[in-house]
Amino acid sequence: MEKIKLHDKTFRLSIPYGEIESAIDAVARKINDAYRGVEGTKAILCVLNGAIMFTSELMKRLDFDTELITMKLSSYAGTASTGEVRETMTISGDVRGKHLLIVEDIIDSGRTIEVLYNMMKDAGAADIRICTMLLKPGCYVKEIPIDFVAKNIPDDFIVGFGLDYDELGRNYKDIYVLDA
Ligand code: 5GP
Ligand code: MG
Repeated sequence: MEKIKLHDKTFRLSIPYGEIESAIDAVARKINDAYRGVEGTKAILCVLNGAIMFTSELMKRLDFDTELITMKLSSYAGTASTGEVRETMTISGDVRGKHLLIVEDIIDSGRTIEVLYNMMKDAGAADIRICTMLLKPGCYVKEIPIDFVAKNIPDDFIVGFGLDYDELGRNYKDIYVLDA
């Protein structure tokens, strides 16, 4: 589909599924290389709901044993960041002493990932690395290094592949951008 309509807005095709798949293949290879030889318990922290689809695609490509922990955080209402990050769900497992890979759908200003990173540090993770499907480098203003990025994108509002506009659009396998 070239265009989709969600609530009151129209979105046009931006990143077709094939391109997302290749980007995930490439980032998974980097993660496999980075964790080769790392001893101890590994855990993936999937940030709900947006990162569900990316996490499942990514995990299939990982060649090391890892736990899966989920957590829900939300800072967005509509198409603009509220600037306030709220922890809307408790974490599903214990990260203490584990090699933690945080998996995010998209990093914009970095507020969410900064809060999450500090929470996980306080919770006693042995080390923390961050993987995001999409990064908006033009928006990211934080110091925390983003270790793995599947794809950089411009500063536009996008939906699909797990990402929503007011809870709709998550099921599309292609990524769509707000049609101006
Ligand atoms: P940040 O805290 O980095 O500004 O925003 C990160 C969170 O905002 C992401 O986890 C995601 O939930 C949401 N977000 C940021 N940019 C977009 C976007 O273009 N589309 C959608 N649907 N959500 C976004
Ligand atoms: Mg998110």
